Amino acid sequence: MIRTRIAPSPTGEDIHIGNLYTAYINWAYAKKMGGKFIVRIEDTDRTRLVEGAEQKILSTLNAYGIKPDESVEVGGEFGPYRQSERLSLYKEYAEELVSKNKAYYCICSRERLTEVREEMKAQKIVPKYDKYCLGRQDEVKRKIGAGAECVVRLNVPANQEVVFNDLIRGEIKINTNNLDDQVLLKSDGYPTYHMAVVVDDYLMKISHVIRAEEWISSTPKHILLYQAFGWELPIFAHLPILRNPDKSKLSKRKNPVWASWYLEQGFLPNAVLNYLALMGWSHPEEKELFDHEEFIKEFTLERVRAVGPIFDIKKLEWMNGQYIMKMDDSNLKAQILEMYQDKKLDEVIVEKSVPLIKERIKKVNQYWDIAGFLFERPESFEKDLSDQKDILTSVAETLKTVESWTTENIGEAMQEVAQEKDIPFGKFFMTIRIAISGKKISPPLNDSMEILGKEECVERLMKVVNS
Ligand code: GLU
Repeated sequence: MIRTRIAPSPTGEDIHIGNLYTAYINWAYAKKMGGKFIVRIEDTDRTRLVEGAEQKILSTLNAYGIKPDESVEVGGEFGPYRQSERLSLYKEYAEELVSKNKAYYCICSRERLTEVREEMKAQKIVPKYDKYCLGRQDEVKRKIGAGAECVVRLNVPANQEVVFNDLIRGEIKINTNNLDDQVLLKSDGYPTYHMAVVVDDYLMKISHVIRAEEWISSTPKHILLYQAFGWELPIFAHLPILRNPDKSKLSKRKNPVWASWYLEQGFLPNAVLNYLALMGWSHPEEKELFDHEEFIKEFTLERVRAVGPIFDIKKLEWMNGQYIMKMDDSNLKAQILEMYQDKKLDEVIVEKSVPLIKERIKKVNQYWDIAGFLFERPESFEKDLSDQKDILTSVAETLKTVESWTTENIGEAMQEVAQEKDIPFGKFFMTIRIAISGKKISPPLNDSMEILGKEECVERLMKVVNS
């Protein structure tokens, strides 16, 4: 049974776009293999906890349609899915390691630890804990009994090669001499990330640990833990980290990083996920646009490249535009109404405007800029029309006589005026367009005027004349 997971920590505003990428890959891979996708909340770092973050992460994942088979919200047979509710388990497992001499209690003070590190640094050796407490466990246990604060550390064996095969990167090897006797259980009773992640991935029967490259240096520590417990290793695959166009790590300063920001800006969930799918992976036929179904069918971890893919918001905008073009009119209408809820837009106008703007916007939040004039009269004009009043008056007069207010009739009536006055069409229609919409670029003029209605068009033209 294939079981994948993401394990977000509720330590930020929302889920990071890079974690959304990891989530999509894990979700798709589980779907492909007929497996299960789990969302586990890693809330053991109490100092970095952000109020409301867990809820936000879960609702953003949901908004993107990445639905877990097991989670805090949907439950499942391997719960609880929130680490803070599993503390007794970690303690139990830590004690198991202590009893097997694979881990030990440590009561060293912060001062002593700093001193040891400083000394090692001065001697130019990799600073790590000197196992001082390991050799005096009886005394340590007595002191703990008398109330001393303690942590549990892994007893890392000296000079052994830790080797694992990363599905994306191949064989990775590290000597244990470079690894510290990491803390497994902190003095507040909470496990460290390393301890909790291993215990939970094991107990939740995770078959594939697919996570970002930034965790790769933790993996040997995890492997030592699996070995200490005598547990079988899951398969590891470390995805490349997304980069800004200047190749730096995706960061708040260069790119918006919270996944919900993209939805608020009018990016479509499926367009964002399609774009993320292409980070480090390519479709075997080099296709750029594909839906979930096709991605699930074609995706393989082996095809993921390890080099940092560039997350380019311009490219994402292009892709989003392609999705908007292909979208159902009724669906796009619903998205627009939702985006502009506060404006309480007239639904009929939105519906009529959709075919006109569909190929002209790349994001739903560009709608108002291009179509706002259908709901509100323009307050400013991109070109001064004060020398065009004569033409505008004639057009207004002619439009009044149009009986059946259709796009064709509106167009014909205006063309007649242009011909009569001998004005080149380009210039003529630009004048009318600006008077009606305020802008030099707008959706097709005749169609827009049909939506606005005769009276409103005549009034807009005359308002310019009388200004
Ligand atoms: N809690 C870690 C995070 O915030 C999980 C890392 C992992 O997947 O092992 O991403």
